[in-house]
Parts: sequence; structure tokens; C-alpha cells
Amino acid sequence: MRLIFLGPPGAGKGTQSQHICADFGIRQLSSGDLLRANMRDQTPLGLEVTKFMNNGELVPDSLIIDLIKDELSKPQYKKGFLLDGFPRTIPQAAALDSMLIKMNQKLDCVLVLEVPHELIISRLSLRRTDRKTGKSFHLIFNPPPADGDFDLYQREDDKEETIRNRLEIYESLTKPLIKYYSSMGLVHKINGVGMLEDVYDRISTVLDRMTKSNIY
Ligand code: ADP
Ligand code: ADP
Repeated sequence: MRLIFLGPPGAGKGTQSQHICADFGIRQLSSGDLLRANMRDQTPLGLEVTKFMNNGELVPDSLIIDLIKDELSKPQYKKGFLLDGFPRTIPQAAALDSMLIKMNQKLDCVLVLEVPHELIISRLSLRRTDRKTGKSFHLIFNPPPADGDFDLYQREDDKEETIRNRLEIYESLTKPLIKYYSSMGLVHKINGVGMLEDVYDRISTVLDRMTKSNIY
């Protein structure tokens, strides 16, 4: 199964992706996690993207497209993947189309997680991320297990003013992808408001239906 997860920053894509991948046996590929790992390790790419990321701006298409092309060609994605955070612009989606044609693969589904902006601000301002694994928590709605060994920090781009900038960028550059993939008949919209488990039930209902009808 090959999925794209779309939705505004803070909608819950990363959180839900972990459950989807565990249940459906596919690999998550998070562009944000990949970029943050490069920043943490101070690679040349990491140093190049730091300013964009901390300001909540998108990194240039050419950089992210090359990064994803390298990553997706690895054998662990052969059985299927869930793309979280990529594509985010129409040129990125077009580049992904060409990559998939070359790999003789096709997309099965684009999940769009819908959450109103006011709720996103409360989710992101209390999000904390583990430095080692990239896993995210919420101080109230999804606290880290008390016995876990986490090194939590607040992402620079999870400050309220930057969140607003990211939401504007989502509206102008990423939301058009919903129309792009709708025209291919791939889009399933999911209501992302509610408890984590309830949102997951909505997602797994859609994916179970696809699995049972064997359309992927
Ligand atoms: P994204 O990957 O879409 O940016 P995350 O999965 O990191 O979003 O979720 C953003 C924040 O909201 C995190 O702090 C997460 O724990 C929290 N969160 C995710 N889903 C829910 C939910 N259904 N209800 C409340 N908080 C949630
Ligand atoms: P979110 O919590 O907003 O879903 P991500 O972890 O997906 O955050 O992305 C964080 C930042 O990484 C973005 O604001 C952007 O700077 C950069 N980034 C991630 N994916 C992409 C992409 N596909 N294109 C351009 N920039 C990206």
C-alpha cells in the first residue's frame, strides 16, 4: 500500500502514521523527521535548511525532491510507504509522479486529515518532540509515558507566531494538492477532531475497506 498523508501542520499526521504503519506493515517516510535528523547531525543539508525550518518556511523544492528521491529508492520502502510531509507543493507532487513511474509503482490513496486552525494552535503550542526518535507528544492530550526515557524539546517552529506562518503556507502552497489528487480519484478526507483513538478508527475504516477490496 502506498499512501500520502496530507493535512495542516499539527493535524496529527505523525502521531497517526505510527499506528497506520504498525497495523498495515508499511514504512513511514517523514520529510520533516529526515530534515530534523540532518539538522541535529549538522550535515551540509542540515545547515542549509536550518533557517527555513526555524522560520516555518518551506525548504526549496529542489533540495527536498533530491532527498526524497534518494530515500524512496531504499529497499525498505519496496513493500509500501506512507509519505508524511511530502509532497507539499505542486512541483513536488509532479516530481513524485515521475519517481513512481520510474519505479513502476502507483499511489493507492491520499488521506487528508482535516482540523480547524484554532485547534491546531493549541495542539502545536503544547507539542513536545523527542530528540532521539523524533516522536511527538502533547503535554495534555498525549503525554509521554512516565517510565519512558525521552529527551523532549519544543521545536523552534512550534512557537505561536511561526505556527500562523506555517498555516498560511499550508493554505497557499499545500492545499492545492487536494484538488490535484482529487482529480486522480485518490482523496479520502478524515475528520481529525476528537480523541486520538477515534481519529485512528476513522482512518483504519478507510484503509481496511481498501485492503478488503484488494484495490491496491
Ligand atoms: P503533524 O505531524 O500533523 O504535524 P503531530 O502528530 O505531531 O502532527 O500532532 C501535533 C500535536 O497534536 C502533538 O502534540 C500531538 O501529540 C497532538 N495530537 C495529535 N492528535 C491529536 C488528537 N486527536 N487530539 C489531541 N491532540 C492530538
Ligand atoms: P509539520 O509539523 O508542519 O507537519 P514537518 O515536520 O512536516 O512539520 O515539517 C517541518 C518543516 O520542515 C517545514 O515547516 C519545512 O520547513 C520543512 N519541510 C518538511 N517537509 C517539507 C517539504 N516537503 N517541502 C518543503 N519543506 C519541508
